[in-house]
Amino acid sequence: MGSKERYHWLAQNVKVSGVDDMVLLSKINEDAITENLKKRYMDDYIFTYIGPVLISVNPFKQLPYFTDREAQYENPPHIYALADNMYRNMMIDNENQCVIISGESGAGKTVAAKFIMSYVSKVSGGGDKVQHVKDIILQSNPLLEAFGNAKTVRNNNSSRFGKYFEIQFSRGGAPDGGKISNFLLEKTRVVSQNPGERSFHIYYQVLVCVCAMSVVGLSVEEQDSVLQLVAGILHLGNISFREENNYAVVESQDCETRQLLAFPAFLLGVPQDGLCSKLTSRMMDSKWGGTTESIAVTLSTEQACFSRDALSKALYTRLFDFLVDCVNKAIQKDQEEFNIGVLDIYGFEIFQRNGFEQFCINFVNEKLQQIFIELTLKAEQDEYVQEGIQWTPIEYFNNKVVCDLIESKLNPLGLMSVLDDVCATMHAKGEGADQTLLQKLQGQIGSHEHFSSWNKGFIIHHYAGKVSYDVSGFCERNRDVLFNDIIELMQSTNSLVQTLMKCTPHYIRCIKPNETKRPRDWEDNRARHQVEYLGLRENIRVRRAGYAYRRAFNKFLQRYAILTKETWPRWKGKERQGVLHLLNSVHMDQDQFQLGKTKVFIKAPESLFLLEEMRERKY
Ligand code: ADP
Ligand code: MG
Repeated sequence: MGSKERYHWLAQNVKVSGVDDMVLLSKINEDAITENLKKRYMDDYIFTYIGPVLISVNPFKQLPYFTDREAQYENPPHIYALADNMYRNMMIDNENQCVIISGESGAGKTVAAKFIMSYVSKVSGGGDKVQHVKDIILQSNPLLEAFGNAKTVRNNNSSRFGKYFEIQFSRGGAPDGGKISNFLLEKTRVVSQNPGERSFHIYYQVLVCVCAMSVVGLSVEEQDSVLQLVAGILHLGNISFREENNYAVVESQDCETRQLLAFPAFLLGVPQDGLCSKLTSRMMDSKWGGTTESIAVTLSTEQACFSRDALSKALYTRLFDFLVDCVNKAIQKDQEEFNIGVLDIYGFEIFQRNGFEQFCINFVNEKLQQIFIELTLKAEQDEYVQEGIQWTPIEYFNNKVVCDLIESKLNPLGLMSVLDDVCATMHAKGEGADQTLLQKLQGQIGSHEHFSSWNKGFIIHHYAGKVSYDVSGFCERNRDVLFNDIIELMQSTNSLVQTLMKCTPHYIRCIKPNETKRPRDWEDNRARHQVEYLGLRENIRVRRAGYAYRRAFNKFLQRYAILTKETWPRWKGKERQGVLHLLNSVHMDQDQFQLGKTKVFIKAPESLFLLEEMRERKY
């Protein structure tokens, strides 16, 4: 199909429902935005643009427009159009691209990520090697989901880890490699879950993922070991302790309970005695005169349970990392050329009771929102400055203040630093540490406008809303992970930010229309709340106050040359003059455009549509 046929095909096939680019809304307020999204949602149009940003509303049902046909002739707005745009940008500009998918738990982020991956593998060509990489890219999803996803009250298939998936391409544009970075696996889930939730899927579907393990290249022996370890961790959880003279001993009076220790020891491949002493004692360095000696200190039952759980979590985390490694080995290539990265992390969470895990997850989301703000507004403003375009900056809520409240290392100290301080000085048992933490927080950051406290903990006013955190367990969990998780999280958030900053960014903002997970169910207040905190109104305003369209003089001249006889077939003078001549000849309003140093900026997309129409008529 040529561009003209395609235009007509689209005109006939696209039913109009609301506006498909909300830059065109006549009123810009939360109600109008929500209403427009609702209208489209009810007509089964789940995608809507704000300029280049794609809004996606979870339909909770299969829609017909994700077939090969749409992959070829997508009706924009469509996620395939966004994916296509990334692919073209990468090929034309020789630049890495990334897409940041955000939205709360159950809003459709992971499904969106999968659409992007499947689009890329549908449209790009390639031989056997490429087909092999494509297979792994697609098959790694069920594998990692089996080990990293679980049913929560928000989402039956909730990702409990964050991932950044890079698809690497050859110069010719074939996907011939890839890389997954995973972070912040919610390992606590392997030992405990909130009411109504489950452990990771693998504990309910051991057989389903066996095929996926073969595809990523695990041998039969390795697959057995993986499943043996999964079972070992499960049985480790069955070990219980009782107190004897103040110390923990493994429950083992009778034959049946002795099994409780023997079976996990067998599955984990360690001697039973070794496992027993590992769980009930701890090695400590003790200084005698000038020498240091290691001595075994026996643990209380509470501490023994803690060390059993810590062992389960550590084993599970390593197992997960091992699987990610296997996928990476299977698709790695020697030399990186271009890539498209897809960031799918778990979304903002508010539960009845919010603990340390929710705090970490919400913090990562807070950081992502910060990246969105920095990159969209910064990129926009930088270009205006560079091109010498006049423009008045738009006001928006910058959530840097919330990020600082949490992560600041200098005065005033952020929440994390206070937490680390308390953990560094707490007793082995950690009793009362959480209360100490709460008091210190009240003392140090109690007056911060995004912080307040309640009898069991504290409240943070995140960009996405207020969340009350229950402080109990914070110190214990933070200590458990102090020297790896949090530091790892901080580092990975930091290196992730750097990776993202090097790419041309694209955004998908996912919206969850209801709590029932049912199709055609729209809760106005829920949706409006997300519209608010995702900052869609500001997003539209920035887009409108700014220039929706920008293009280098020569490209613009090339495209619209046919509109005047002086520019057809070629303009002889300076390019800038040619553009000006063109715009004057079609009587474009003076306040609709500005000429920068190398590019023309056009305000409203309608002005551009007008040019496109004239061009169509000439052909
Ligand atoms: P998130 O990753 O944001 O937590 P998911 O992507 O896992 O959410 O989506 C949750 C569920 O919603 C999916 O399991 C699926 O049932 C449904 N869903 C999401 N997006 C779509 C879509 N585009 N089409 C059909 N169902 C969807
Ligand atoms: Mg997900």
